[in-house]
Amino acid sequence: MSSVAIIGAGIGGLATAVRAAAEGRKVTVFEASPEVGGKLRQLHLDGYRFDLGPSLFTWPDLLLDTLEKAGAHAAPFRFTQLDRSCHYFWPDGTQFKAWSDKSKLSEEIQSAFGVDPQPVLEHLERSSAGFEATKGIFLEQSLHEASSWSPQNTFRQLGAAWRGRRGLPLTQTLDQWNARTGHEKLRQLFNRYATYNGSDPYRAPAMLHVIPHLEFGMGTFAPEGGMHAIVKALHTTALNLGVTIHTATAVERILTENGRVRGVLTSMGEHNADVVVSGADVTPTYRQMLPNHRAPERILNAESSTSGVIFYWGVRHPAPELHLHNILWAEDYRAEFDALFQSKTIAEDPTVYINIGSRTSPEDAPEGTGNWFVMVNAPAGWKASGLGDLRQRVMAKILRMTGIDVSEHLACEHVLTPDDIATRTGSHRGALYGPASNKPTSAFLRHRNRDRRIGGLYFVGGSVHPGGGIPLCLLGARITHELIERHDPC
Ligand SMILES: Cc1cc2nc3c(=O)[nH]c(=O)nc-3n(C[C@H](O)[C@H](O)[C@H](O)COP(=O)(O)OP(=O)(O)OC[C@H]3O[C@@H](n4cnc5c(N)ncnc54)[C@H](O)[C@@H]3O)c2cc1C
Repeated sequence: MSSVAIIGAGIGGLATAVRAAAEGRKVTVFEASPEVGGKLRQLHLDGYRFDLGPSLFTWPDLLLDTLEKAGAHAAPFRFTQLDRSCHYFWPDGTQFKAWSDKSKLSEEIQSAFGVDPQPVLEHLERSSAGFEATKGIFLEQSLHEASSWSPQNTFRQLGAAWRGRRGLPLTQTLDQWNARTGHEKLRQLFNRYATYNGSDPYRAPAMLHVIPHLEFGMGTFAPEGGMHAIVKALHTTALNLGVTIHTATAVERILTENGRVRGVLTSMGEHNADVVVSGADVTPTYRQMLPNHRAPERILNAESSTSGVIFYWGVRHPAPELHLHNILWAEDYRAEFDALFQSKTIAEDPTVYINIGSRTSPEDAPEGTGNWFVMVNAPAGWKASGLGDLRQRVMAKILRMTGIDVSEHLACEHVLTPDDIATRTGSHRGALYGPASNKPTSAFLRHRNRDRRIGGLYFVGGSVHPGGGIPLCLLGARITHELIERHDPC
């Protein structure tokens, strides 16, 4: 039986383990931390439960598809669809609820901004059409295999992508593209989707206009039991399939011989394997685990996506005006990205994201309180000097914009900085989504899923193709698994 060693039990590593084991392979996962989940771990603190990383769940079919591969071994996973994706607050008092129902959304656009909703609905249709037309090219296959670019395949897909479309989003930035919404606040709202892969909307290509389709077209969802239920489902399914998972066991080296992998060296010793999949960030994979092999320097030196500073607060306040996902906008959104990507600092008045998981999982906080996940974007590699000042500014902003004085109602607190994210998950400079997508060529600057020089070596997870975030990591696991089946069959 062919054996697979997987480095890291994040979403990508676990999903690849499920797919490979379901195919009948002997799979062993090595995870450096004492727990599985990577960025999607959880924290219990003083009666509150917090999801440490992702809070937004979209495209659930990808997780269901992964679990289905395990047949009777699949762990249960339940989720509900939300009636709105986000509640937005502007400093001038404007509020906007992004309803999933199109007629409610139209009414909300009219009442919040006093504009005709039709251009916005058309903008969303362009997002859906763009997504459907391009996902086959950029998300569902490797970009680095000759077979992906066979004339028949490529021209068919590109033809479908561009057919009947005016104003191709090839030369514009996302911000320029979003000007067609016809209102500055809506333009800003759609610009925020660049942050879904840690990029700058004022530089990122307009191709990112497909991202809103995930929320407005496909919907937003809440897993029963919180976001960590995603990890639990993958972890349990992997164990049910017979996958061996060693936690607190870091891989130190990927072992190679005659141009092929032969296993990994861990703190427990050598482990032989026919195939090695790195679900760890691609930079430490090359720099630390393959020190004697040529590294893809252009990719490893690419601009990083953003990181974040996250305050996890138990708040003894019902906060009825806040929903599951809330955005308190910066006064000057462009200045925020100049700070993040040019001066490499956090803006004086950053946009604040508040997620209250207990809105959909009430068991995660004592009654009448909430488990707040409060995040501001930070440059990757940002050093947490002045954290106390940032905390004050965030609390003052929340008080100003919602009337809630968090400092008066604080039950418990935990903080993560870019350095913490780097140390705990091995993510290069604490970036949340690997390299940023700030250039039209960015999709091609993500590392390939199959190594060109070392036979049997594969990559999965947020730092490689097709990108970061739960859906793309799950798609990446599917792509990587298909490549293994093709190039290293059982
Ligand atoms: C604060 C925050 C908010 C986010 N919000 C969202 C969101 O709302 N929605 C969304 O979809 N995504 C979000 N993301 C991004 C998402 O969490 C990631 O893209 C995704 O979880 C990355 O998964 P991964 O498979 O790349 O592995 P990771 O989660 O990066 O895990 C990699 C694993 O490899 C292990 N590892 C590293 N080196 C070694 C080694 N040498 N040996 C053994 N193990 C090793 C690490 O310990 C880690 O467990 C967020 C991320 C963060 C941090």
